[in-house]
Amino acid sequence: MELKFSAETLCVQGGWKPSNGEPRVLPIYQSTTFKYDSTEQMARLFDLEESGYFYTRLQNPTNDAVAAKIAALEGGVGAMLTSSGQAANFYAIFNICQAGDHFVCSSAIYGGTFNLFAVTMKKLGIDVTFVSPDASDEELSKAFRPNTKALFGESISNPSLDVLDIEKFARVAHAHGVPLIVDNTFPTPINCRPFEWGADIVVHSTTKYMDGHATSVGGVVVDSGNFDWEAHPDKFPGLCTPDESYHGLTYTKAFGKMAYMTKATAQLMRDLGSIQSPQNAFLLNLGLETLHLRMPRHCSNAQAVAEYLQANDKVAWVNYSGLPGNKYHELAKKYMPNGSCGVISFGLKGGRDVAIRFMDSLKLVAIVTHVADARTCVLHPASHTHRQLTDEQLIEAGVKPDLIRLSVGIENVADIIADIEQALAQ
Ligand SMILES: *Cc1c(COP(=O)(O)O)cnc(C)c1O
Repeated sequence: MELKFSAETLCVQGGWKPSNGEPRVLPIYQSTTFKYDSTEQMARLFDLEESGYFYTRLQNPTNDAVAAKIAALEGGVGAMLTSSGQAANFYAIFNICQAGDHFVCSSAIYGGTFNLFAVTMKKLGIDVTFVSPDASDEELSKAFRPNTKALFGESISNPSLDVLDIEKFARVAHAHGVPLIVDNTFPTPINCRPFEWGADIVVHSTTKYMDGHATSVGGVVVDSGNFDWEAHPDKFPGLCTPDESYHGLTYTKAFGKMAYMTKATAQLMRDLGSIQSPQNAFLLNLGLETLHLRMPRHCSNAQAVAEYLQANDKVAWVNYSGLPGNKYHELAKKYMPNGSCGVISFGLKGGRDVAIRFMDSLKLVAIVTHVADARTCVLHPASHTHRQLTDEQLIEAGVKPDLIRLSVGIENVADIIADIEQALAQ
């Protein structure tokens, strides 16, 4: 009998299950290819009639073990690692959208995802409509068209820190016969499990808390296996009608609940090839082994820093869902009762110029593009990650020009606050 394990145990031991005499630690299968005894067997692998490894662009045992761990943490049926979070988001949409299709997306999303969806996917003929995450069911519904294939949002948006009402988004998506895709990068499955609230597909930039040490760019797509593609075969021909590139195989018929993941791997990864290297998957796995220990510390440190900032008269505003009175405090309590994430945003009295002087005065806290790793770091989105966006787009994405994004790490919180205090004094 399969035992059901808690998230803590899955972090440490999920995925890699060595049999007698095998390495205790997940090995790095640093091999592009795999050996077979007969041409016949190799042919069956190429036809997807048999599962097995043949070329690392499609599948690799190190990557698969790590993907299985993440799938278990999210409560999904399968997952696929990608080379980056950007690639994960692209694959998640492109697996069910083609030229002429449309999807709906919360406007509170990461700047890179915004560019991918609004600019690059448009060039592929895939159209997106952005909606406010706070929109009512009726307002959300108005954005849907007959050719709409998905609804997308971030469980906690980067960097505006809006908390997605996952149940509302799932309800509207399902009323229109499409899946809800949730980018769950910031809370991680330790703090939020979108599938339990009706989301169908989850994506992550594993570059952030999952890796947690800022060593490896990566992403993952996870499928709950819950969405009934066959209920809307006209909407999802890629899954429900024969794939000519696999001798007329139909994914839903051949793979059931694994249809979406199999197509993403066998078709998109085969053709687009944005794989995570096994070396990076190994490092990601080391990060995952302590995710359940790091997330609570990120949250308690961030809570203390947010409270310190809120009480400081040089600070104009603080945005952290852990603060009572925050716009998203109640939603955060519902969807992530044990804490949200370690990222805070705030503004200083005096605006943009004061923000820059403050950041340049920090000593322990470093200015880096990164977010969500063990070391506390800071960023000014308007002049860094979001600098391609117009002021109008900035506001729409919930990014004020004076917004400072502070990613609180797992150092001693008194040291972090002392550094902020001396920089504010400058
Ligand atoms: C960073 C990030 C991404 C992009 O991930 P990369 O790994 O940098 O490609 C996507 N979504 C969110 C919420 C992010 O924070």
